[in-house]
This record gives sequence, C-alpha cells and structure tokens, in this order.
Amino acid sequence: MFRSFSRTNVFAILVSVLLFSGALYIYSGYSHSDISLFQSKDFSKTESNAIITNIVEVKEDLTTAGCVVKDNLNNCGKWSIGELKSEVGLKYAQPNTLKGRTDVNSVTNWNAPLVWEGTFDPVVIDSIYKRMDPRIAVVVFAVGKYTRFLKGFLESGEKYFLVDFRVTYYVFTDNKQDVPQVRLGRNRNISVVSVPSANRWQEVVLGRMKWATMAIDNHIRSEADYLFMMDIDSVFHNRFGAESLSRLSAVLHRGYYKNTHRDHFPYERRPQSKAYIPAGEGDYYYTAAVWGGYLEDMYKLVKHCYTQAEEDAKINIEAAWQEESHLNRYLLYNKPTKVLSPEYLWSDYDAVPADIKVVRVSQLVKNYKEVRPNGGH
Ligand code: UDP
Repeated sequence: MFRSFSRTNVFAILVSVLLFSGALYIYSGYSHSDISLFQSKDFSKTESNAIITNIVEVKEDLTTAGCVVKDNLNNCGKWSIGELKSEVGLKYAQPNTLKGRTDVNSVTNWNAPLVWEGTFDPVVIDSIYKRMDPRIAVVVFAVGKYTRFLKGFLESGEKYFLVDFRVTYYVFTDNKQDVPQVRLGRNRNISVVSVPSANRWQEVVLGRMKWATMAIDNHIRSEADYLFMMDIDSVFHNRFGAESLSRLSAVLHRGYYKNTHRDHFPYERRPQSKAYIPAGEGDYYYTAAVWGGYLEDMYKLVKHCYTQAEEDAKINIEAAWQEESHLNRYLLYNKPTKVLSPEYLWSDYDAVPADIKVVRVSQLVKNYKEVRPNGGH
C-alpha cells in the first residue's frame, strides 16, 4: 500500500515538474525581462534640453549569458570577438579578385569595407561570426506614442536581424505596459528599461545618449559584446546579418550618398558647437538611426555624443541634427571600420534606386505632428 502510494506520488511529482518546465519553456518564447533602472516619477526635471535624472535603483533580472568576457576574450571555448576564424571544410563559392559590384564603390579611402549586397558571402560571414558567438545588444527608444512601432520592429527583427545570434533588445520606454509580447528565437531576449516621458521630441532624441551611457555603465556592459543603436520607427525586410559587425559600423544616410558635395551635407556649421565641421571637410553623411560596433567603442561614442551635447547646451546651442551631428563629427576624425550602404536604412518615403539591390531596414512613413509630443518635423 505504502509502496504503491509512493510510486503514484513520485509519478505525479514527475508529471507536474514536466508540465511546469514545459509551460516555462513556452512562456520564455514570449517573455521579456524588466529591468527597472529608473523610477519615472523622479524624472520630471529637465536641464539643458537633456533629461536629467537620479538613478534610484538598479535591479537586474536578466540571466547572465554564462560566459565571462574580459578584454574581448571569453571562457566558453568560443573565438575571441574580432578574430576571423573560418570553419574547416566549409563549402562556398570561390571569391573572385576581378569580378564584383562595379556600379558602387565597396571600399572607403581609408580602406574600410563599404558593404553592399554582392560584396560579401553570407555563408562565409556567418561561419566566421557564429564561431565567435557574440552577444548583441540592440538599444531602442519607444517613448510616448512611439511604442506603437515596437511590434513591427521586434517581429521583423526576429525574422531578419542577426538570426541565430544571441540578441537582447533593450527597450527604453516610459510605458512598459505597451511593450508587446513577441515570440522570440532561442537565445534572444527583450529587456525593458524605464525612462521618463518627455515634452519635446528633441529631448528624447538627445536624451537617448545619456540614458544609453548610464544603462551601459549599469548593466549592458556585462551582457553584450556588440551594441547597436537603432530608431524604432522602422521595419526589417531582409537579412541584416554579421556582415554589419565591426569595431565601429556606420550607415550612409540615404539622402546624401550620391551626388552630394560634402559642403552640402547637413553637418553642424556653427563653429561654436562641438559638432562643428567646416566647409571643405567631410567623408560621408551618416545616419544616427542605425549604428553599431564593439560595446566599448560604442560606449565611447554614445558618451561622446552625450557630453558634447551637454557642452553645447551650456551655451544654448542644440546641434542641427542633435546626436546625428555629433556622431558625424566624431566619425570624421575617428573613421568607422565598416561603412554600411543605405540598404541598412532606407525609407518608405523614397523610391528604391537600382543600386540598392536589397532594402534591409526601412523607416516607416509617419505623421510627425500626431506622433511627436511637440509635433514638428
Ligand atoms: N523617439 C521616441 N519618442 C519620441 C521621439 C523620438 O521614442 O517622441 C525615438 C524613437 O526611437 C525614434 C527616434 O527617437 O525612432 C528618432 O526620432 P524620430 O523617428 O522622430 O526622428 P526622425 O528619424 O523621423 O527624424
């Protein structure tokens, strides 16, 4: 009697454990972590056009990736970040030294790759970067009405953004209830970071540099090898893969990538601003809607944009295109190690020309007046 009772009991416990783990597994496909970094009620103050805050609490409930990463080396038997090791026996098309894209330039004058469809072999690139198995952080802001863009961005990101890589989307928002449940692939997470609401869109746009700097300092640094900063009002349409990864990768702005003289780039032209670029200087005009690189290099650049904007604010200047202006000045004197073509950020506003063979990400058409807190364009 006792034995049969105990066997039944053991069986029941086993079944419950299995059911419970099954439910946990299914739930994890949809779930996100909620890092409550900041208490929004404390963030009503503004100073120098930037959101000013106090860190009240750092509560982290992301599971650690399990590998200790130090100086770009990890202890999980993977290759170091940046090492271009390839797989023995991998089959791929032989590269050709004479044939390739001839309609576009695929190298910069400082010898960095300029990445277009047809300039890389996804089989080779994936093999190299999969061996590194990097952890990739994507920082996006969805403040105010911009939470409406989260679903499309995240769902399409799951189809096309660094598929099969370890990705965490860090969603900075003032309204975490509106962060949708999205089915995520294996080793992919959403981590929600609370930030205060804003009265001006410029506050959000510039404030991103400050919040991202603080969040990297607080927790992202120990969770990622690469970091991307991206605008949320966009949708992935095609592969955005490991060919985009490098120490510092910047994207050519679709509006100025051909036939624009450097003196007509919308750089900040007032010498008083820290973002100033004089006439006669400049390589390209880069967008601030997609940029990425090694965690520490991105940290340096994000922090640079933040501190330079603060300096400007002290003399009542806001750079012409906010952080994009500071980004462009930095990249003029600190050249990016990869330049991504406008395939990596097109716009639904514009027709797609023949040299753009693949639109990988496209910005959505939006009603600026309706979606921004202070309207305007
Ligand atoms: N953003 C936001 N709330 C705002 C304004 C901007 O979350 O009220 C974020 C959002 O991630 C957006 C990015 O800042 O994608 C850039 O702003 P916006 O898209 O308005 O700039 P645009 O690229 O259209 O000039």
